[in-house]
Amino acid sequence: MKPSIAFIGVGNMASAIIGGMIEAGYPAEKIMGTSRTAEKREKYSATFGIEMLADNNAAVAKADAVVLCVKPAQIQDVIEAFADQVRPEQIFLSVAAGVELAAIEQWLKQPVAVVRSMPNTPSQVGAGMSGLIANAHTSDEQKAWVSDVFASIGDSVWVDDEAHMHTVTALSGSAPAYFFRFLEAMIKSGQAQGLSEEACTRLASYTMLGAAKMVTELDEPINQLRKNITSPKGTTEQALLSFEASNIDKVVDDAMTACANRSKQLA
Ligand code: NAD
Repeated sequence: MKPSIAFIGVGNMASAIIGGMIEAGYPAEKIMGTSRTAEKREKYSATFGIEMLADNNAAVAKADAVVLCVKPAQIQDVIEAFADQVRPEQIFLSVAAGVELAAIEQWLKQPVAVVRSMPNTPSQVGAGMSGLIANAHTSDEQKAWVSDVFASIGDSVWVDDEAHMHTVTALSGSAPAYFFRFLEAMIKSGQAQGLSEEACTRLASYTMLGAAKMVTELDEPINQLRKNITSPKGTTEQALLSFEASNIDKVVDDAMTACANRSKQLA
């Protein structure tokens, strides 16, 4: 039987997950959400056909699984307000950026399954990537259920050391912005060569999507995919030589290191 699930703080991230789960066939009657404003409760109840409550404690009391979707600054108060009624068989799944498992466990006050996730914004279009880490009380069955939840908004990768969540932040959490920035530079250059912004945007962004699909769907190493379209003395080679002259590995490594370091500072 599918667990009943309560989303505490339905906003952008929770609605992406709820929408994905319902589209994937999760029964709406098994999903509840909470929000502080009547306007949002009406909106999400109408959009998803789920029960929306004002009271977090009432939602936690009825749920097998609780997904914590409030902002990081609010999560401690929210958890501590319902901690006394937590049941040992429940699982708590947090999407709050930078909030560590040990802190969540401490606020929950009792040994219970906790999973911390780091989703990214493409979750809003069903192509999200999430890094996941579970505490010692989480069973394999519970982890499989969490993987299923994240499959409804894209894909996920489990890590077994929480320190690796900083690297997850650099590789997927913050990374959509790197690709947006790269696209902005490509579009600007295409426009300088005379094409319209619209044409440049379509050509470059669909190419980025296609390249990513080749990596994820074809069983070929990435460097081989690159070599396949890099003829000696051809056009692609000229572009790649220019990247090498700018030391692209260092440019990317510096950016990823800066991202991971900031993630450590914020933790
Ligand atoms: P959001 O502001 O859209 O949603 C948060 C919701 O929580 C709001 O609707 C707010 O009204 C509600 N809320 C606040 N306090 C509450 C309370 N006490 N009880 C019930 N509801 C309450 O924010 P978001 O972008 O959905 O982010 C939510 C969480 O997801 C954050 O912790 C963030 O770190 C994480 N996250 C978001 C993204 C993203 O792509 N948006 C990516 C990674 C992680």
